[in-house]
Amino acid sequence: MEFRKLAEDFSKIESTTKRIAMTDYLSDILRQAGPGIIGKVVYLIQGKLYPPFMGIEIGMAEKLTVRSVAIATGIPPKDITRSLSRTGDIGDTVYEELSAVHHEVKKPLTVSEVYGALDKIARTSGPGSTEAKINMLADLLKRAIPLEAKYIVRTVTGKLRLGVADMTVLDSLADTYGGGRQSRPPIERAYNMTSDLGAVAEAVARGGVGALSGFKITVGKPIRPMLAERLKTPQEILAKTGGECVAEYKYDGERVQIHKKGSEIILFSRRLENITKQYPDVVELAKNTIVSDTSIIEAEIVALDPDTGEMRPFQELMRRRRKYGVKEMAKEFPASLLYFDCLYTNGRDLTETPFLKRREELTQIIKPLVRAKLVEYTLTVNAKQLEEFFEKAIQDGTEGVICKAIGPHTYYQAGSRGWLWIKYKREYRSEMTDTVDLVVVGAYYGRGKRAGVYGSLLTAIYSPETDTFKTITRLGAGFTDKDLAELPKMLEPYKIEKRHPRVDAKERPNVWFVPGLVLEVIGAEITLSPLHTAGFNRFRKGSGLAIRFPRFTGRYRTDKSPEDATTEQEIIEMYESKLHKVT
Ligand code: AMP
Repeated sequence: MEFRKLAEDFSKIESTTKRIAMTDYLSDILRQAGPGIIGKVVYLIQGKLYPPFMGIEIGMAEKLTVRSVAIATGIPPKDITRSLSRTGDIGDTVYEELSAVHHEVKKPLTVSEVYGALDKIARTSGPGSTEAKINMLADLLKRAIPLEAKYIVRTVTGKLRLGVADMTVLDSLADTYGGGRQSRPPIERAYNMTSDLGAVAEAVARGGVGALSGFKITVGKPIRPMLAERLKTPQEILAKTGGECVAEYKYDGERVQIHKKGSEIILFSRRLENITKQYPDVVELAKNTIVSDTSIIEAEIVALDPDTGEMRPFQELMRRRRKYGVKEMAKEFPASLLYFDCLYTNGRDLTETPFLKRREELTQIIKPLVRAKLVEYTLTVNAKQLEEFFEKAIQDGTEGVICKAIGPHTYYQAGSRGWLWIKYKREYRSEMTDTVDLVVVGAYYGRGKRAGVYGSLLTAIYSPETDTFKTITRLGAGFTDKDLAELPKMLEPYKIEKRHPRVDAKERPNVWFVPGLVLEVIGAEITLSPLHTAGFNRFRKGSGLAIRFPRFTGRYRTDKSPEDATTEQEIIEMYESKLHKVT
């Protein structure tokens, strides 16, 4: 197949506004490609050379491609850069520059040749590789007509965005090689099991739908994840799940699919990228807790506070998505693993096994540790129970719960969003933007690294109306080692045997204090909580307000008396003013 044909179809796809026309062009490309090349063509349509899980990117910076264009055309780089700032697109610039010079192409480029050259560029690394890549690209551009060059440079810079969805390619494959839409389900299943669109295309083009029987789950190839629907009340959820379900905590972290083969561990993200290198600590946790020889397991990675062992906000985990400084970040934001499904174990595909059986298998192959264990869950058959479990989940710092149907046909629906999993999240959030000044009224003994000092402090706001201190959060984060060492001494003078009469609390700390020391604290949000007494019954019967993810800013407000701390009214206003609907 000539590359020119592909470039012309890319151009047509780009210029149409009609979905049907786009699908027609796509089918045209796939038909022309045929077995042998169709796999490569499918990756190229998506601006790639391989399925995303292989992690092979061409990733040449625009600046470097400018140099290749300069070599190929003889035009000075600064002129190309000037054109680039005018067009804003390297593809358009190359098209213009190549059209302007006399550019004779002797032998037309084939798709295989272009693919081969791009592959070589992608795989070139090490010292001197930058120059080598520039020259390889220049050689390719010398042989390209302007339209081909346009798509080549967009591909190498990662800017080819034809917007052809995987699902559209599957439709097109069914029409072109499968004899019609009835063959769509087996084609999609093969894709969901292997996440390799090119390999599926190649098989269907070669042997029709029958050739897909060989597409089995393989350790090392990610399975497309099952997704959850959403409902607003426990009643609606139970109605959908047939009156009973397993409710699990919905942790606010990053989904990971863990593939284990002997001692090798591969981690895939929800978008099926290989993220093994970013999480060396997760690899270790998986090695130490998964006991089966081969398996594919799903879990949520959550960031932990290294000092208190408490969960931290999602944003902190996302700071670990980086190429450099991986080890340092793992120390600063260590991860914990919460396992929730098992899709494959010791040669057995479990995707067509009901949920409870999969859960049983999962339990058998996990030897839990504090930092790597099964998600919290409960089997529930009534709405009140479900609501209580949900409240507990929120209190424990999660986003809510995911309810999972448990009937005989509750299979793992790879790649689809269905009613077998239903999420139940809070409808409102109230983000915290300002710091507050809180009074220390109690403390909990520390464990592990904090043995011998306080692990966390029970803190309160002040209510002038009742002249009481009402608790609002348990504060453990943000303290330096020096703070931790000094706090027992600082708090010693305030220590008392029992709760102080001016303190209104439901919590039972190990040590009580006379309200005295004031600390500046910032949190992620203010939430409803049955455990704290600030604003009790104000927004919901049986609940007060709590600060979620509190952190000491480092400022001891010794200038403030406890009566100068943030007041109950202020907290109520902060909660109300920032309250907004969660989308
Ligand atoms: P959402 O991203 O809001 O559609 O919610 C689904 C996501 O919740 C999944 O992709 C997982 O990353 C995450 N999650 C957290 N806890 C669980 C759990 N127990 N079961 C399934 N997914 C979970």
